[in-house]
Amino acid sequence: MTTSLVDTHAHLDSGQFRDDVDAVVARARENGVGTILTVGCDLPSSHASVELTTRFDNVWASVGIHPHDAATVDDVALAELKVLAARDKVVAIGEIGLDFYRDRSPREAQRQAFRAQIRLARELDKPLIVHDRDAHDEVLAILRAEGASEVGGVMHCFSGDLTMAKECVAMGFFISFAGPLTYPANEALRAVAGGLPIDVMLVETDCPYLSPQPWRGKRCEPAMVRTTAETLATVKGLTLDDVARVTSLNALRLFGIGAVDQSTRIAYTIRNSLYLNITNRCTNHCTFCAKFRDFTVKGHQLCLEREPSAAEVIAAIGDPRRFEEVVFCGYGEPLLRLDLVREVAAWLKGRGMTVRINTDGQANLVHGRNILPELQGLVDVISVSLNAPDAATYQRICQSACGEAGYAAILEFLREAPKYIPSVTATAVTLPGIDIAACRRLAEGLGVEFRERIFNEVG
Ligand code: SF4
Ligand SMILES: [Zn+2]
Ligand SMILES: [Zn+2]
Repeated sequence: MTTSLVDTHAHLDSGQFRDDVDAVVARARENGVGTILTVGCDLPSSHASVELTTRFDNVWASVGIHPHDAATVDDVALAELKVLAARDKVVAIGEIGLDFYRDRSPREAQRQAFRAQIRLARELDKPLIVHDRDAHDEVLAILRAEGASEVGGVMHCFSGDLTMAKECVAMGFFISFAGPLTYPANEALRAVAGGLPIDVMLVETDCPYLSPQPWRGKRCEPAMVRTTAETLATVKGLTLDDVARVTSLNALRLFGIGAVDQSTRIAYTIRNSLYLNITNRCTNHCTFCAKFRDFTVKGHQLCLEREPSAAEVIAAIGDPRRFEEVVFCGYGEPLLRLDLVREVAAWLKGRGMTVRINTDGQANLVHGRNILPELQGLVDVISVSLNAPDAATYQRICQSACGEAGYAAILEFLREAPKYIPSVTATAVTLPGIDIAACRRLAEGLGVEFRERIFNEVG
């Protein structure tokens, strides 16, 4: 694993770690968990958490009062939290929220404490770490009423459904998964993870509680977050390295902790495929394109300072035989660089590789000729973004520089491509208002395969 994981929710101050916290932090590192956020749940534990950050360079802290101790939240306690929050390496307010499962504090006290600490977080401009147990609707209502989206945060050890998760994401919150994701009976939680883009997810242990399988019932520790991340990788059809990279970037964005290599990628890995980012130019200006947000795909930064030469692309590939396939993709239209695609594809075919191109399908219009014969024998698979069942809809969402002629060119490209390329697929992004069934019928009528791409997972 090249990127280390971040355990975004630990209680290292717990008495259960009193005798061996050094060994626990060392074991985390040995297991690829390079950064730990230790979370306060009352004033003493907030003090202790801040103290731990001075002992370990890779430990960061949050301060806050858990709903169990909500009755202790008064002006004096809030003032003390404020002082603590100003210390170095304190990156969030939490954990705070509502716990109507154990009800250890009166519910009204919980609500007041939650609201007061959201206000504190807004005043200090720090994200929130939210604890929610059997109180989904009220947690959402209070977050909304208190303007929590201004600072965002994380729903730690998430236990709601997909609808709730999406509402939290819309409010600027990340969704964090702990050990329960690994429990065999917890299909419902895995369904939530399956239905969300990984770009909004974090992983955590909540140690010493909630050990993942197979340590359930034993003391949990940060090293075990790796097992939860492995389960997440299985659910998302990704590798552990993919999950580590994306969730670590998410932790970096939310809390400013951990490190992810964000140097621009010409060649980048997702699952067992190697992707090539050869241009940021595009025929389109798609409304949903992440290029206009941050140029990141699955944690890889793809904003090119300049377009690489064929020799630079080949150097970035290294030995391609480690991968199942090599894909011309990136943030831009690869077939705008037809000559480079041909040169690199020939080099790859010489090494027995499967070569795929993800394209907007307008290359014949752009180049003023049928370029497909020039790809014959060099490209095994072409995936064309069809995205709409008609030209007007396409133009509305993809904004082709070629105008509505772009769409006609895509249909013609799809009709022509199977003559030269062994496998041709049309795709459509599941955007609201797009008739996916109509796209499928159209693709099948053109004699090509069809695949829908989940919105938020594109790039
Ligand atoms: S989604 Fe693809 S085709 Fe659309 S603008 Fe972005 S890179 Fe270009
Ligand atoms: Zn909690
Ligand atoms: Zn906790």
